[in-house]
Amino acid sequence: MAEKLKIIPLGGLNEIGKNMTAYEYGGEIIVVDCGMAFPGDDMYGIDCVIPDVSYLIKNKSRIRGLFITHGHEDHIGAIPYVLKQINMPIYCTRLTAGLIKLKLEEHQLVKSTKLITVEAGKSVRAGKFTVEFIHVNHSIADSVAFAIHTKMGTIVHTGDFKIDSTPIDGEVIDLARLGELGKEGVLCLCADSTNVERPGFTPSEKVVGATFMRQFQNCDERIIVTTFASNVHRVQQVLDAAAQCGRKVAVLGDMGELGDLTDQAHYNIGALAAMLGIDEVVAIGAKAEKIADGAAQSGGSVTHFATKEEAVHELTDQLGTDTAMLVKASHAMHMETIVKELEAQT
Ligand SMILES: [Zn+2]
Repeated sequence: MAEKLKIIPLGGLNEIGKNMTAYEYGGEIIVVDCGMAFPGDDMYGIDCVIPDVSYLIKNKSRIRGLFITHGHEDHIGAIPYVLKQINMPIYCTRLTAGLIKLKLEEHQLVKSTKLITVEAGKSVRAGKFTVEFIHVNHSIADSVAFAIHTKMGTIVHTGDFKIDSTPIDGEVIDLARLGELGKEGVLCLCADSTNVERPGFTPSEKVVGATFMRQFQNCDERIIVTTFASNVHRVQQVLDAAAQCGRKVAVLGDMGELGDLTDQAHYNIGALAAMLGIDEVVAIGAKAEKIADGAAQSGGSVTHFATKEEAVHELTDQLGTDTAMLVKASHAMHMETIVKELEAQT
């Protein structure tokens, strides 16, 4: 009897977060992504939601590797929790590896984990699977899709992606390779792209840079920009616009997505803001107090809040109409909180 090929989604379908899929063929398993989800409003006391991996625990001797498409929390956030139960080698690109390493360090898993860096365009043999890394564009650099080759045929697992013909780093999604695979024949395409149901297309990341320039040129007051910390291309565009407009920049926040910075790093951020002469900065998150300490030592001051909700409440109270605020909340719940608070104020 022919060997069966199974695709087992363990999370991430019809939901935002905890992306994880197992592929099983000829008695062997590989896993793609290992993400967490942010808790909903009703999950009191819960910080992090992870996929149900009981099937993988039961079959751990048959797992040949964990392949990660990119470094967003909803694709890597559950790794330390799952690794404590299933030790498997991790294959990913360089930036993704850097972000995962921070998590492994935090959970004392560096020594016991094999973390292998693979470049886009290369392939890895893992048991009866050969996994090919294909460059794609996304809101974090170094993202890849996988062509998972088996004797039975090929599955293409895209991960999150967009088609950006003018990406900031100049590395356009490898449509040529995807086209070739299409010609060779693909058994199954597992594609994942936010807003895929909406017609039209998403503008290039370059368009955001032009918007920053317009906003920065027309504003003499303080500008607050929020973004995913891991969207290094967007952070770069903020810095470019600021440099062109002769603005000073202070980088603040809990930097959760770049891993847990040390206390010293947070302290330095506060000191830097004070040295730049920015005396009314706001720090949010578990390490906010450290940022405030750093600022105080350098003669500045930082208002600090333990949680985003607390900050949003206080800030919407205080912000005057002459302050521009560009908000890109990191997840829907925060955006809703902001909107509710703004409504309450008007
Ligand atoms: Zn993503």
